[in-house]
Amino acid sequence: IKGRYGTYFAAYDDALRNKLLREQAITNGMESALARGQFEIYLQPKYRIKDDSLAGAEALVRWNHPQWGMQSPAEFIPLFEKSGFITKLDQFVWDRACAVVQSWDEKGYPPISVSVNVSRADIYNADIADILVKTVRKYRLPPSRLHLEITESAYTENPKQIIDTVGRLRELGFVIEMDDFGSGYSSLNMLNQMPLDILKLDMKFIQVETAKPVNQGILRFIMGLARWMNLSVVAEGVETRDQLVRLREIGCDYVQGYYFARPMPCTKFETLLRERGLA
Ligand code: C2E
Ligand code: CA
Ligand code: CA
Ligand code: CA
Repeated sequence: IKGRYGTYFAAYDDALRNKLLREQAITNGMESALARGQFEIYLQPKYRIKDDSLAGAEALVRWNHPQWGMQSPAEFIPLFEKSGFITKLDQFVWDRACAVVQSWDEKGYPPISVSVNVSRADIYNADIADILVKTVRKYRLPPSRLHLEITESAYTENPKQIIDTVGRLRELGFVIEMDDFGSGYSSLNMLNQMPLDILKLDMKFIQVETAKPVNQGILRFIMGLARWMNLSVVAEGVETRDQLVRLREIGCDYVQGYYFARPMPCTKFETLLRERGLA
């Protein structure tokens, strides 16, 4: 028995050790990765549900690691949030997103917007409004071309400060989306005080609620609430036709998900824009 547990713990130790080593490698490598141009943005299209037209894109960061290949952010973003590096990386992503929007404008494509993720650390950065304004100005874009996705859980920590900062960004003309709505933090009472334009329904929420056989009471309730508050609604993580049909039935405005397209390199998205956007 002793031996068996011994093996078990040794294997556990190894796994834990490898995880820690990998995390350390990520944290040690992040600054030079940025300097060496290993980060890149992918774009995932958002569509208007009423006529299937292309409405915009979400910029999602990827790390093209020389040894590990293309890394998805699920692992490294939480580490960057811990270390504070996320604010630097996010500024890089905002810059790239604006650069790509400007290049489309120059080519005469229809003016779609791009959504970027704003991490909670960014909101506590006193310079965030200045940085964002400088970024859109650098590319001669109105702030409304940039949508800021702020995760629902960020709103609960220090509501007063978040409301002030986000309110200022909204007054400057940026479009504010509450990301991951329904993942469990915001109270309905707080929602009422939030400076917001768009509710972005959490993927899990969509998947659970659209799987229910008949009434979809909660989804309908949220749509009603959004209408009453003058908010548009985006559903993310739409993977099936059935989900799309149900979302259309309840009057959801925009959809994003693997059913339509996975996040893709900017060049590939441009092809889509050329084909779909002009239709
Ligand atoms: P998120 O902001 O909620 O982004 C949506 C995630 O769902 C993306 O994962 C996207 O690729 C994935 N997704 C889209 N459609 C579907 C679908 O139909 N099914 C499923 N199962 N997944 C779908 P990704 O790119 O791995 O990003 C994960 C998270 O990392 C993001 O979640 C966001 O919180 C964070 N993140 C990504 N890029 C950035 C960034 O530039 N800055 C910050 N601060 N966070 C970022
Ligand atoms: Ca997002
Ligand atoms: Ca989300
Ligand atoms: Ca998220």
